Amino acid sequence: MRLSRYFLPILKETPKEAEIVSHRLMLRAGMIRQQSAGIYAWLPLGHRVLNKIQRIVEEEQNRSGAVQLLMPTIQPADLWRESGRYDAYGKEMLRIEDRHEREMLFGPTNEEMITDIFRSYVRSYKDLPLNLYHIQWKFRDEVRPRFGVMRGREFLMKDAYSFDLDKERSTEAYRRMFVAYLRTFARMGLTAIPMKADTGPIGGDLSHEFIVLASTGESEVFLDKDILDLPIPGEDTDFDGDLSGIIEQWTTPYAATDEMHDEAAFGAVAEDKKVSARGIEVGHIFHFGTKYSEPMGAKVMTAEGKEVPVQMGSYGIGVSRLLGAIIEACHDDDGIIWPKEVAPFHVGLINMKAGSECDEVCESVYAELEKAGVEVLYDDRKTSAGQKFASMDLIGLPYQLVVGPRGLKTGEVEVKDRATGDREMLTPEAAVNKLI
Ligand code: ATP
Ligand code: MG
Ligand code: MG
Ligand code: MG
Repeated sequence: MRLSRYFLPILKETPKEAEIVSHRLMLRAGMIRQQSAGIYAWLPLGHRVLNKIQRIVEEEQNRSGAVQLLMPTIQPADLWRESGRYDAYGKEMLRIEDRHEREMLFGPTNEEMITDIFRSYVRSYKDLPLNLYHIQWKFRDEVRPRFGVMRGREFLMKDAYSFDLDKERSTEAYRRMFVAYLRTFARMGLTAIPMKADTGPIGGDLSHEFIVLASTGESEVFLDKDILDLPIPGEDTDFDGDLSGIIEQWTTPYAATDEMHDEAAFGAVAEDKKVSARGIEVGHIFHFGTKYSEPMGAKVMTAEGKEVPVQMGSYGIGVSRLLGAIIEACHDDDGIIWPKEVAPFHVGLINMKAGSECDEVCESVYAELEKAGVEVLYDDRKTSAGQKFASMDLIGLPYQLVVGPRGLKTGEVEVKDRATGDREMLTPEAAVNKLI
């Protein structure tokens, strides 16, 4: 992509309304624009990252055996009356009336709708286990939308729903999601810690929030440092096998949000391993049994010919919130430092003097990198080199390839690693090989 033909509205001024660094950097890097409180337009650079995050989420959901579909954003109120949540949900729900005066709503989540889909088609234990997920925009009329995409009103969520015959199998479904989440966040360069979360009136121990530590996080958390060193399950994890060992390992060290915090249990953690910090909830998994299947009549036939309400769980990931969480974790004074897997482009090619002998070298490395499938943002504009460096540091692509008149005198270009700041002078060919 040539920057001269792209749309990257970088802001020079630091926006006053942004209280935290990720929000400031997203605005300054031209990734998002607020259109109304907590409602954002995703500008091209932000949209690219959103897509990359979404792709990782999809790959890991699919790997774990979940099946993707897409439900609408607008839902009929009647479905929510069946579960009893239409009135209970309160002001966070955006209620809409259509031209026929039918009550509709913009979905804040999809338990009711997926249960309706399930009950319309599935009748037998033979069709289980089933886990259906979608990635769709949600709307919650938050009292205080803030911190940019971190607490939006319109936001992108991945929500999966599992259906099983009994509690034991439902627990297995829960474990598959637990492991998929560990992998998903790690692939994005994040340390997201599963923490015991409140199960409300349902009880049990099957609810975890996945929390990224950050001083700007809205949750207060307590943990045993040991959890930070646990290995992430590999790509070869057998999701049809027994995952209880992994869950056991990850739920042994103490880790809880303030709602579930137990001073006595935390007290048993070695003093030098105790961490109390703040964190961002990027995911939440929850087994809720028959909470929706019972009132909504989603039943399946057992092998013995008995009809039972299906056991369910739901599993959310804050896809758009993740951009904020990643930036909170990965930045410095000059801007964002994207982890490679989610970076909007892999390389920023800087032509220090457009209109000079630099052009030819830039065009050739640009063509070669593109041919090799490397995503390049080529700054071919006729602006100052200083401005180009500052913009590239701000938008945080993993590598910068700098072509300047001085280096070319000895036939060399510079490769800079954004994360470490390391610079290396190489021939254009060697630079291309390094970046492929
Ligand atoms: P929070 O405690 O932050 O309000 P929640 O517990 O209400 O979140 P869930 O219902 O568990 O949210 O939704 C699943 C995921 O969706 C959350 O873990 C979070 O990552 C994301 N999410 C929830 N609300 C928002 C929001 N207003 N803006 C962006 N992402 C959100
Ligand atoms: Mg909430
Ligand atoms: Mg929460
Ligand atoms: Mg939650």
